[in-house]
Amino acid sequence: MIQDIVNAQNAFFSTHQTKDVAYRKQYLKQLKQEIEAQEDAICEALYADFKKPKFESLATETQLVLAELSYALKNIERWSRPEPIESSWTNFPSKDWIQYEPFGKVLIISPWNYPFMLTLAPVIGALAAGNTVVIKPSELSPNTSRIIAEIIKKVFPPEYVTVVEGGVDVSQALLSEKWEYIFFTGSTQVGKIVYKSAAEHLTPVTLELGGKNPCVVDETASLKLAAKRIVWGKFINAGQTCLAPDYILVHTSKKKDLVEAIKGQITSFYGPDIQKSPDFARITTEKHFKELKAMLQGQTLLFGGTCNDSESYVEPTLVDEPNLNSKLMEGEIFGPILPIISYEKEQDLHQYISNYGKPLAFYLFSTNKRFQKRLLSQYSFGGGTINDTVIHISNNRLPFGGVGASGIGGYHGKHSFELFSHKKSMVKRANWLDIPMRYPPYTLPIRWVKRFKHLF
Ligand code: NAD
Repeated sequence: MIQDIVNAQNAFFSTHQTKDVAYRKQYLKQLKQEIEAQEDAICEALYADFKKPKFESLATETQLVLAELSYALKNIERWSRPEPIESSWTNFPSKDWIQYEPFGKVLIISPWNYPFMLTLAPVIGALAAGNTVVIKPSELSPNTSRIIAEIIKKVFPPEYVTVVEGGVDVSQALLSEKWEYIFFTGSTQVGKIVYKSAAEHLTPVTLELGGKNPCVVDETASLKLAAKRIVWGKFINAGQTCLAPDYILVHTSKKKDLVEAIKGQITSFYGPDIQKSPDFARITTEKHFKELKAMLQGQTLLFGGTCNDSESYVEPTLVDEPNLNSKLMEGEIFGPILPIISYEKEQDLHQYISNYGKPLAFYLFSTNKRFQKRLLSQYSFGGGTINDTVIHISNNRLPFGGVGASGIGGYHGKHSFELFSHKKSMVKRANWLDIPMRYPPYTLPIRWVKRFKHLF
């Protein structure tokens, strides 16, 4: 079956229909209409998967995808045009340009945590650039995967875009095929498997991975606002957000006040009985629920800690000064548990932050501009926000992606279009002049050749 899909997409791509920008636009428009028509059903699927509140489903899944679609539809013609480039004297007279060309068949593998947005957002870029797509959504969010499959089936012929549902075995079967591009969102561990498979065929990849995102709060931060924005970014989607602040590093002098402000903010957002709040999601898989529970073993809690097995509910929890060797601080938490660690001097930050690979995101709450500048130049990370969390993902003019352990490549908006395009470098020579000096026999004095650098 997978072989049939691969053959069909190869044959379809060879017809060059996707090279026509009007063709791409027509399908992207239909996709937009279908998502708009199914928006409530998509939210219901997300609720069925992990009780994702409708507000969050709209704000962080469907509306982001619709915004990405509108932005692509508005700009696709401009993006697709050949880009004129200044020519060099050596080629005079010539016309130089970059021509954007689709790669061919793209494989997109997505995770369960924002199962709609993280699947469709890259699909839009791949289609805007003129590729065909095979989508493998996560088996751990089956209701959302099903509705994605239905929407795609309704809008696209399978030789253009199709969904293959299934788990690890299906994913591996897909990876054993030859693709012209692979876009993977998921864990660092599986990212390595994807990268290895891609290497077999020299297939270019984008890897959107996770990380342990630090959130520094210094003594100049506006604490009340910091608490509100941290609580929002950490507990949205029940902490199952690749961009969520993973742990807090707060200046010792502000720790007590910050903890109180965070506690107050949690209660103000979710009420006194958080389990009853319609605005707080659940942990998607039992395996991860158990891992989160285990992370709390032996920790000192400042707030929360309740776990309800029957509902996969983990209460927003604050952990005081965890040991760096504990399970909680080993890797990405990916749940509603927030470790709070105090630091005395700026130099102390290094031992925590450098303990992990380059994170996907970095957050800093501070009004000290010099401190902001220093930390930004000192630490490498995918992207970040000063005085807020998570929101840098919402500007589709900014590339979204990791660096080092948190991934390879960035997408959204024009960056997606470029990511899914090969940039053909073109030079068109004129025939009315042909300067003979480059041709043998070489008669040009060497001292002249040494001046060529001024001509390139
Ligand atoms: P995962 O890596 O377990 O799974 C992602 C996808 O890979 C799924 O479709 C799954 O079926 C497939 N897969 C799983 N194991 C595989 C294997 N051995 N071989 C081939 N395919 C395999 O990730 P997840 O648990 O679904 O998602 C959580 C992770 O994703 C977190 O680490 C999170 O940080 C990361 N993430 C990153 C981003 C980002 O944009 N950078 C966004 C969301 C999530």
